[in-house]
Amino acid sequence: MNKKGIKLKYIFSVLILFVIVSTLVIDWLISMNSYKDTLSENHLDNNYNYVQKLKTTASHQLNYMKRNIESIAKNAEISPITQENLDNWYDANIRHFDMIFITDENGTIELISPKRVEINDQVVLEKGVKLEGELMEEALAEMETSISKPGHLIDEQLTTLITSPIYDRETETFVGMVAGVIFMKTDNVLKCIFANHQYENPTYVYVVDKQGRLIYHPDEERLEEDVSENKVVQQVLKEKDGSQVVVNSRGVEFFASYAYLDVAEWGVVVQTPTSIIDKPLKELFWHIVMLTVPVMFIILAFSSYIVSRITKPLNLLAKFSEKAMQEKDVAQNTDLLKIRSIIYEVRLLYSQVLEYITMLNKQATLDGLTKVANRRKFDAEIQRLFEQKTPFSLIMLDIDHFKKVNDMYGHTIGDKVLKFLASMMKSIVDKDDLVFRYGGEEFGILLKGKTEKEAYELAEQLRQKLAVTNSPIGQPIFISLGVSSRYEEDESVEQVIERADVALYQSKRTGRNKTTLYEPDNPINDE
Ligand code: GH3
Ligand code: MG
Ligand code: MG
Repeated sequence: MNKKGIKLKYIFSVLILFVIVSTLVIDWLISMNSYKDTLSENHLDNNYNYVQKLKTTASHQLNYMKRNIESIAKNAEISPITQENLDNWYDANIRHFDMIFITDENGTIELISPKRVEINDQVVLEKGVKLEGELMEEALAEMETSISKPGHLIDEQLTTLITSPIYDRETETFVGMVAGVIFMKTDNVLKCIFANHQYENPTYVYVVDKQGRLIYHPDEERLEEDVSENKVVQQVLKEKDGSQVVVNSRGVEFFASYAYLDVAEWGVVVQTPTSIIDKPLKELFWHIVMLTVPVMFIILAFSSYIVSRITKPLNLLAKFSEKAMQEKDVAQNTDLLKIRSIIYEVRLLYSQVLEYITMLNKQATLDGLTKVANRRKFDAEIQRLFEQKTPFSLIMLDIDHFKKVNDMYGHTIGDKVLKFLASMMKSIVDKDDLVFRYGGEEFGILLKGKTEKEAYELAEQLRQKLAVTNSPIGQPIFISLGVSSRYEEDESVEQVIERADVALYQSKRTGRNKTTLYEPDNPINDE
């Protein structure tokens, strides 16, 4: 194969390949991106709904726990609480509190349930033990039922206290407090609420206190870690609820939703690693590839067929000219026949296209109904004759009482009459004359190189012929005509048309079925 042919074929193929591949890749990228957006929005929405649910449930539970502790304090104000009473309270709230105790005003335990709390086989808490430390000091200073800032009560365990003060009813002095103890690590109601129940899902919940310290986290090692730098934590500590994509302190990206829990002044965050959408995205990618690659191959096969069809004759031409240059004996060359057939095909195509264009051009100048020249063609033709200073005459005509034809026989018959008139006009004119439809049932004949006398005679010939010929309504139709010609002094074609019109009007006025030649000196024409 000729080198040029190979090159051309490859250029076409590479071009087509490039167009197909780039279109596909752009399409892939667009669909992947929109799918990614949808997935991200879904995760943010889901997490937002989840965190709102947690907020409602946790608030509800904490308020319930506050009310319980408060009611013990109120009871203690009325009559002293017995160990049995307190044990009953504790048993009823065992899922909510890890212990409940009552202290005097200095923080010394007066009553505690369970009765003895041991850690590592050592009694740590029982009646008579004085509790100290920041958590206790702050709790004793509270004037009403409240939830403490998480801190330490007896050991390293992170602890929250729900406390309610006890007042002496008579003296209204502070005499002690009731405290419900919640260890943040034990399996109490709170932990149950925050633990993730969707095991397949890497979504998890964490809770921060007002200082931005972790007070609940599935990884308990991280409790009390300061995460106040986290963007989401900063938002929730501004007491806002919302959702956003965030990168945590360890560089992992998350879909995070947050809600502020005002009853305890905690921030709850639900977050899912954004890598959760990698799998569905990957699946979509392969799905698209599996679907489009076979189609791509079909398109490629088809286009390479087309390319070879296009390049074959070009290749042949190149080969031929090369041989011709070398051998000079073109006539003997067998390729010549093939070349001739290509040239013939091109010529045929060219002449067909030309024919089609000519046909279109002609159609644009014809009146659709009667197939005589239309107004546009007449305007162009009369203008051309006028500019070329070719002498010409003009007959304008209008059917008499045509409305009646329409009224009596209908528009379809009316149309047939118009066609009939047009064919009668065509039958009497020379090939240089132009029969045209001026509009409605007004027609005309433009007579190149003819005098007004010749035009008048032709007009009369037409009128008389019509008057004795049956039209589609079964009887003759009558017409009124006006004739004029181009005068030397005319400045525009409108003047000629105007005169023919005036003459036509006069024919109508003076009885119809008549031809009038415009006469400048006729006083009627000056009206
Ligand atoms: P006059 O003798 O004064 O000319 O009376 P006339 O009834 O012919 O009046 P005029 O010329 O004003 O009427 C033109 C009528 O030609 C009105 C219209 O309905 C009809 N007409 C115009 N174009 C067409 C057409 O394309 N087909 C049909 N069937 N009728 C048409
Ligand atoms: Mg009319
Ligand atoms: Mg008429």
